[in-house]
Formats: sequence, C-alpha cells, structure tokens
Amino acid sequence: MKKSERDEYDKTYGLYKFKRPLPSEIESAMGLVGESILFKKLISADYERFYDPIKIPEEGDWLMTHKEFGQTYNEYIQNDCYQVDPNHNVIYIHRFSSNDDLIKDELFQNVIILLEAFFTGMKVYLYDEGTNYLNNNNENDNENENNNNENNNNNNENNNNENNNNENNGENNIENNNNMENNVDNNNIIKNAQNEKMAINADQLLEKLKLEMPEDAYCVFGIIDNDLYTESLSYNGKRLIKSTYCKRSIQDRVAIFSLARFDPFFNFNGKINNLSKEQKYKISLILLKRICNAITREICYMFGMKNCIFLSCCMNGTNVTEFDNKQIELCPICLRKLVTNIKANGEDIKTYRVKKPLIVFNRFVKMRDALDNFAGIYENEIKWFDARIDFLKGLI
Ligand SMILES: [Zn+2]
Repeated sequence: MKKSERDEYDKTYGLYKFKRPLPSEIESAMGLVGESILFKKLISADYERFYDPIKIPEEGDWLMTHKEFGQTYNEYIQNDCYQVDPNHNVIYIHRFSSNDDLIKDELFQNVIILLEAFFTGMKVYLYDEGTNYLNNNNENDNENENNNNENNNNNNENNNNENNNNENNGENNIENNNNMENNVDNNNIIKNAQNEKMAINADQLLEKLKLEMPEDAYCVFGIIDNDLYTESLSYNGKRLIKSTYCKRSIQDRVAIFSLARFDPFFNFNGKINNLSKEQKYKISLILLKRICNAITREICYMFGMKNCIFLSCCMNGTNVTEFDNKQIELCPICLRKLVTNIKANGEDIKTYRVKKPLIVFNRFVKMRDALDNFAGIYENEIKWFDARIDFLKGLI
C-alpha cells in the first residue's frame, strides 16, 4: 500500500476516532479460512467491485458520536450467535395496528415477501392484532393510575447511550426530539402536541410479546404505528420518560418497533387527509422503504449480529436521519454470519461444513425478485443484484 493510501486509512473521524478498516482487516473479518472454494467465491468474489467502502462519517452521522467495535464472523460465531434450530425457525411479525391510510395491506405483504427473501430458509408469519390492544392497554393503565400520581411526568429526554448492543437498545432512542412538547397523562400515555397519536409504553408491549411467544418462534417482532416510550427512575428517584423507536430484548428474542418517526407526516397529523391519492401513494412508498430498511436490520440484531464497521452495509450504525440513504443488503461479512446461522439450522455450527453454498446465490435471486414488487423504489438495488447475480453465475 502506498504511503498516501495508508495515510487515508490513518485518518480518524468523530468523537471516538473511528478509522476505516484496512482491506486486510475486512478479509480477515469474513473468516473464510477452511470454507469450500465455491462458498468463498459466492460470499466474497470481487467484493471490492460490488460493495462500497463504509461511508466516511460526516457531521450528524452515527459514527461521529458513537463508539463501535465491529464484530467479525468468528466473534459472531464464538460469542454472539443465536443459532436457528428446526423447531424454532419462524420469524413472527406482530402488527399491533395498521396505518391503513398510508400503507395498504397489499403493500405490507411485500414487506413479508422481502423478509422471506432476506432471511432465506426461515418462515415469516404476519399476525395482525388491529387496534384492540391499545384499548385494553388504556384499561390496564387506569388500574395503575394511583401509583403514578406523584411522579413528575414532564421529562422527555433523549438517550445517546453509546453501548448499542445492550438489551435496552440505547442506539435506537430518538435523537432529534427538540420540537416535541410531550405531556404524559396519568394513564401512561404520552400525547404529543404536534401529533394526536398516543405514545405507548414499550416495556409493556415487549412483556406482552414475551408472554405470547409461539412455540416455534425464533423471534417475535412487534410493529406499531404509535410512538413508543420507556420509563426509568433517575438517581434521585425522579421518573424519566424517553422516546424511542425500538426496544428489544435479544436474550428473549422479542422487539417492538414504532413506525411513527418513519412516517413523513409524523409531525403533521391530520394534513394527510388533504392529499391526493397519488401523493398518498408516493408517501406510502417512502415509508415502506424506511420500514424495510429498518426491519431487516432490527431482525438481524435478533440473530445476535452487531453494528457493522467494515463495508457499506445495512448493519452500519444509523441515526434516523440516515435511513433514507441506507442500503438494503448486507456486506459479505454480515451475509456470511446470517447465511451460516440459517443454513446450519440445528447442526453444530463449529463442525458444520458448507454443504449448500448455493443458498447464497439463491438468496440473491430471491432478494432481487422481492425488491421488484416495490414499484420502482429499489431500482438501483435491483440493478446491483442483477449485476451480482450475473457475475456469480459465471463462477458456479
Ligand atoms: Zn456488514
């Protein structure tokens, strides 16, 4: 490597002095030693041509303010992998409510098709609960009312917790919340001044998902239109309320995810009624893309995968504002983690030899076809998959 090139890699960015990984570090992170030649090719052949380097962080980007250690393939397998087994191989998407104004059910079905492609080998079931839970929740909260009367409920603070891999998901807390004027009432419901939708207690929903987890579930992923919040006590006993768009328990493999902040009309409640059908449809596609990008990534966390620092990847740490420019696909390192876990499906990963490397190729084809359902919002991605598929065909 030339000195000038080396100097580029030595540059540091942000509060925690992030450095771009060297090509040798990227290749080592793939952990392909000992794998079959075909599997190696399908995962990594010509990766520098097909996969962009990780984006150099700019002001406002995740990496400017968060410390990331990355996770190599070997670290994943040794420490973090939640192995799929044949008796627990269903991803459940539990929809608590559906914003039918924006996303019609037939569009949402495409999200399920995409998840089936992304997590090839897993089953994906959609469970729709409608809005009943919200009503029940209000009743339950009324019972707790007396316990909360004396708390000061006016705090809505952001959490910039740097440890993105803990059970409380600090990374997912909303960071740009200054224009909100939240008012927490005695029913544990936050009403946002700009948005009449109620915010819901994320811990309660997570508990519900845990209790109702089906026997064959690998994970349960809840989706709700309303904003979410979590609460805790400060060191001096004061009740703290924090807005969040996702809360997960990796250990229990449940997560609850709010679409509210991904909705372009989050702060303009009511105005959507004045839009034409065509305008609504366009907005629904923006929202749909954000949902797909976020959900695939969130479910990867359920597999024990951590934020990626090696290449441009859907597992890169991301602020809400970065979601629209995010790619939908995994880099070779993260793809290797996912595919190996799903492929092993009950066998001992440590001794597992690659028997079906073609799962990688078939997954690319499925992803390409699934993205085709999204009315043109994934044009660039489809071109990428076409090129990758064409190239790999020549190697098989
Ligand atoms: Zn990655």
